[in-house]
Amino acid sequence: MATKAAKRHVARVLRALQRDYPDAECALHYETPVQLLVATILSAQCTDQRVNLVTRVLFRKYPTAAHLARVPLSRLEKEIHSTGFFRNKAKNIKACCQKLVEEYDGQVPQNLDDLVQLSGIGRKTANVVLGTGFGIPTGVVVDTHVGRLSRRLGLTDQKDAVKCEHELMGQLPRKEWIIFSHRMIHHGRQVCLARKPKCSTCGMNKFCPRFGVD
Ligand code: SF4
Repeated sequence: MATKAAKRHVARVLRALQRDYPDAECALHYETPVQLLVATILSAQCTDQRVNLVTRVLFRKYPTAAHLARVPLSRLEKEIHSTGFFRNKAKNIKACCQKLVEEYDGQVPQNLDDLVQLSGIGRKTANVVLGTGFGIPTGVVVDTHVGRLSRRLGLTDQKDAVKCEHELMGQLPRKEWIIFSHRMIHHGRQVCLARKPKCSTCGMNKFCPRFGVD
């Protein structure tokens, strides 16, 4: 059970994020939930900018799950080569899109249990797709930025992403789950950098405990 002080702290974090990043949204470019799913698979160990460069061409040639399910694996590997881990990603994208075509009429299922059965889709990717693609808050997306900032801000001390997610889910109002991650990712990229956080100009420096910051 969260104490009053902990609740006040969370509320201050949420207010600051809302003030500083009112319009934060997913940095990946996509037009459909299928494209968001594919872009999210490609974003593992790769920057969003690089993914966007690759998907700009990829989605022009293969806009739907049916197109991606049919493309020969070697051609798909070539298309996504620069995102890294391209063999694994290509295999997952193709298998995932084949299943979407065979079992879901080429659409993305809108629940966590079905999504995590698809090739290459873990809980984090499923949360991204459901939250950002459909506006369904099933969890809090915890990537490297969200995890690092949550620890520095004292919202959790968990290093494991799933444990961290569950702690955040327990502290944040459900309606904040989706936007919280987008805003934290923006703050992590622009201000609370991994090596040299810009604490002196940070909008949360008056109340951030800066855990783990030298
Ligand atoms: S005060 Fe420093 S450690 Fe805390 S959120 Fe801001 S940049 Fe990050």
